[in-house]
Amino acid sequence: MSPELQELYQAVILDHGRRPRNCRVIEGGRKAEGYNPMCGDRITVHVCLDADVIQDVSFDGSGCAIAKASASLMTVSVKGLTRADACALVDRFHRMITAPPGAPIEELGALAALAGVRQFPTRVKCATLPWHALRAATDARAKVVSTE
Ligand code: ZN
Repeated sequence: MSPELQELYQAVILDHGRRPRNCRVIEGGRKAEGYNPMCGDRITVHVCLDADVIQDVSFDGSGCAIAKASASLMTVSVKGLTRADACALVDRFHRMITAPPGAPIEELGALAALAGVRQFPTRVKCATLPWHALRAATDARAKVVSTE
């Protein structure tokens, strides 16, 4: 990765960590909480589904900058997707962030900003936490999920 790109990615993470998008509660929506005991991140993802399409998605809770940036970027990325497409994106994101540090980065738009996290295995769970919660929230049997 070029230093310029790395800098850009860091700026994206900082921006979303400091000013998270869609950080609110959706009343009456589905929700699932994700908890990462390794770091103490606790994030609830709220989803409003119309038929099979994610009409609205948000999160609240507390977490480190990586968890918040990942949650923020996630809400921006999955809004308007079908449940199946969102699930596929969860899988692609997970593949990208658990790939070896030298592996090419998938075409995931702004989400690629989080690819650098894979160099820090202890932080991977911070980044994947909101995605696990999203999957649980779109699932009919929403419960508390843990990355452990
Ligand atoms: Zn964390």
